[in-house]
Amino acid sequence: MRKITKHEEQQKVEVIDKEEDFCDLCGDEITRSYYSRDSFRIKLSTGSAYPEGGHVDTEHAYFCESCAEKVKSALIGIGVVFERTEDDW
Ligand SMILES: [Zn+2]
Repeated sequence: MRKITKHEEQQKVEVIDKEEDFCDLCGDEITRSYYSRDSFRIKLSTGSAYPEGGHVDTEHAYFCESCAEKVKSALIGIGVVFERTEDDW
């Protein structure tokens, strides 16, 4: 026979009220509408993923639209070539 002893415990639940993004260059809040798909982010990831597991290190920086243009200009200035794609649905 297995006897299970229990007690009542209240768990603290964290609820997200609001998520805010801030520009990692100027610090201003990044605002956009719910339907906006604007994204001004640089993401650099290294690592490996196998069916049994893996490890990935990721660094990212978020920018407001104005700072994104500055960052893009700086990257183009050092020779980065951006690939342009469009999506319609
Ligand atoms: Zn900014």
